[in-house]
Amino acid sequence: MEPSTTARRAVITAEALDDVLIALTAAGYQPVGPVVRDSAIVLDALGSAADLPHGRGTETSPGHYRLRDRSDGAVFGHSTGPQSWKQYLHPARRKLWSADRDPASGDFAPEPVAEVPVRYAFVGVRPCDLAAIRILNRALRRDENAEGPFIVAVECGDPGATCFCASTGSGPGCTDSGEGYDLALTELTGSAGHRFLVTVGTARGASILDAVPHAAAPQSAVMTARRIVAEARGRMGRTLPDTDLRVLLARSAEAERWDDVASRCLACGNCTMVCPTCFCTSVEDTTDLTGDHAERWESWDSCFDIDYSYIHGGAVRTSAKSRYRQWLTHKFGTWHDQFGSSGCVGCGRCIAWCPVGIDVTEELAALDETIEPETAR
Ligand code: SF4
Ligand code: SF4
Repeated sequence: MEPSTTARRAVITAEALDDVLIALTAAGYQPVGPVVRDSAIVLDALGSAADLPHGRGTETSPGHYRLRDRSDGAVFGHSTGPQSWKQYLHPARRKLWSADRDPASGDFAPEPVAEVPVRYAFVGVRPCDLAAIRILNRALRRDENAEGPFIVAVECGDPGATCFCASTGSGPGCTDSGEGYDLALTELTGSAGHRFLVTVGTARGASILDAVPHAAAPQSAVMTARRIVAEARGRMGRTLPDTDLRVLLARSAEAERWDDVASRCLACGNCTMVCPTCFCTSVEDTTDLTGDHAERWESWDSCFDIDYSYIHGGAVRTSAKSRYRQWLTHKFGTWHDQFGSSGCVGCGRCIAWCPVGIDVTEELAALDETIEPETAR
């Protein structure tokens, strides 16, 4: 996906979202995006713009997520939900191969699974999740030049109370240079009517916009969009401590705070399941009752699972304390050494979906307070 150097901007009406989906479908993409299901905003196939969560917002706090109604009818007026684009880029469970016993020789010949690639169009990707997709692709060693999903990003105008993307530098706005997206939308719901400012990021984004009724963006719409993002940045629910987290975590291995958080942590792994950048998997081999058919499956795993650190003889991280410390230290510290960036994009999912409300920003702040400044730097 080649980013453009000069942002081309247009304005479309709220009704034209349907035309965007029609144009994407005509171009061979399967649009997926936010829909309301089971009292949450999740990701699913979009048949039309009517499937989107019109007039639904979210209310989040540690261990808390609820939908709420919005009076402005905003389509993207919610913060991140329990799912992320990871479920499409790195499915929770997939078959790697199967094998049948050859009746004549008795041998097994593994057959790789023929995956039919789906050309997804991700609609409604938040700036934090644009960063998460980049990080995930790097961790999974995806070819950066391969054609990826078409991405319709949406800038955030109403961050959740658990969001802290301003601290991680991954939101609440998109870059003008088209980094990571084909089209970026900013939702405008003021007195001038319900519209979207569209910023074109790539040539394929431009071709979709050309298929949709649009008008050149007046400067007033661009200024309004900038104000919305600036205000969202100012209303960000949480913040990370202003310190070098790599150094802080490297010096915190023996901190008493790990005992405190371990007394609350259930080691359930919810935080790793909802995190858009956690990528750990395990592999399981199964056979049928006859022993003539075998399969190998890969599925998401979690560093909170005691068996995840099992090596011959036993697990090396036997306590919840050691597993929480491993997760937080990797995510905010050693991820830099491994992949050249933090593993956190400030989406806040792990805070909202932790059943006991453990908050990574609070844990890092507590470590920052207890580690002596001269040893933390
Ligand atoms: S921090 Fe919360 S979500 Fe993560 S393992 Fe512990 S209890 Fe579960
Ligand atoms: S660690 Fe938490 S806030 Fe950071 S990217 Fe993962 S889920 Fe989002």
